[in-house]
Amino acid sequence: MNYKEYISIVENFPKEGIVFKDITPLMQNGEAYKAAIEDIAVYTRQKNADVIVGPEARGFVVGCPVAYALDLGFVPVRKQGKLPREVVKVDYGKEYGKDVLTLHKDAIKPGQKVVITDDLLATGGTIEATIDLVEQLGGVVVGLVFMIELTNLKGREKLKNYDIFTLMQY
Ligand code: IMP
Repeated sequence: MNYKEYISIVENFPKEGIVFKDITPLMQNGEAYKAAIEDIAVYTRQKNADVIVGPEARGFVVGCPVAYALDLGFVPVRKQGKLPREVVKVDYGKEYGKDVLTLHKDAIKPGQKVVITDDLLATGGTIEATIDLVEQLGGVVVGLVFMIELTNLKGREKLKNYDIFTLMQY
């Protein structure tokens, strides 16, 4: 399937100069969304993942249906203050200032094989922070999955020690 037909490109969102790739038309189309999730599920099955981890909010959109398709669990990574029990934390740099991501301490067991999902790979900062959380708990990251990769931002270089699967490149 040509997934790019279902991506809407919005100039100057969320601010001047940014060309935003919007996956919501793909999600809205049952056939396209299902095909995308099935392609990602094939990759994830091949990686023998024990659990799927994804950062809020669009990491859930990719990760939850893949987890369901493969009878696996899904573990959410969330901004500080959202998860109710004991967490591990990581600070990560964003375009403006810093943010904190968290993961429940009991969510990953040492040695568990983890596939991490998100909608889009840009600089790789969000996923690098998510990997840090998984590794703090002894999880083994066996793959990273994105619907979209923005190749000019060189996220792959930052994540060169990990296996990456993407459905579309811009
Ligand atoms: P990174 O941390 O620089 O790799 O940025 C990736 C994160 O920013 C992901 O969680 C994306 O959801 C979000 N993001 C960055 N650019 C876009 C875009 O063009 N469309 C949708 N999400 C984006």
